[in-house]
Amino acid sequence: MAKNNIIKMPQLSESDRQFIVLEKQQELIREQAKLIAEKQMGFKLSSRSISRLEGVNPDLVTVVNAAIDMTKVDFGVTCGMRTVAEQEALVAKGASQTMKSKHLEGRAVDLVAYVGPNITWALNMYDDLADAMADAARIHGVPIKWGAAWSVGNIAEWDGSMEDAMNSYVDLRRSQGRRPFIDAPHFEMM
Ligand SMILES: [Zn+2]
Repeated sequence: MAKNNIIKMPQLSESDRQFIVLEKQQELIREQAKLIAEKQMGFKLSSRSISRLEGVNPDLVTVVNAAIDMTKVDFGVTCGMRTVAEQEALVAKGASQTMKSKHLEGRAVDLVAYVGPNITWALNMYDDLADAMADAARIHGVPIKWGAAWSVGNIAEWDGSMEDAMNSYVDLRRSQGRRPFIDAPHFEMM
C-alpha cells in the first residue's frame, strides 16, 4: 500500500533551471553592489560601541573615530573604561595579567574586527584594523601602542605596515626565547 504513495518531485524544465541560475546571479550582483556602496560610505560605530567609549580619554576617542572613517575592515568597541572590580574579575579568570591596566584610566580600548555582522579573530583582519589606528594616530598626533606589537612603541611612528610591526615583535620575543603576548584588539595611549 505504501509503495504507491511515494511522492514524486516535479522535474524542473531547462528554462526553469536557467531562470533560477539567472536569479542567483542577479542576487550576487546586488549583494556585491551593496558591499561596494558600503565601502564608499565607510563604516560607522554602532551605538553600543559609542557607549563603550564613555569615560575614555578624548584623544583616544578621536583616534578611534578617525580610524572607523579610514578602515578597510569594519570594527566595534568591546571595552573602553574598566572599573577596578571589573579588572579584578578579569585577573581572577586569567583573562588579564595586571591590575595596572590602562583600561582603568580610560587610556585603552579593545576593538574587534567584523566580517558582516560577525566578529572575526583572524589576525590579518587585526593588522588591517591596526593600520587604520596607526594612520589615525599619526593624523591626530596621539601616541598609541598596539597589543600585538608591544616592542614597537608608538605605532604612529612605525615606518611600515602593522603586519610588519607585529612580525618584528614576534621575532624579537622568539630571539629572546620568550613567547609573544598577542592582544590584537588592544590599543592604548602611551
Ligand atoms: Zn585591552
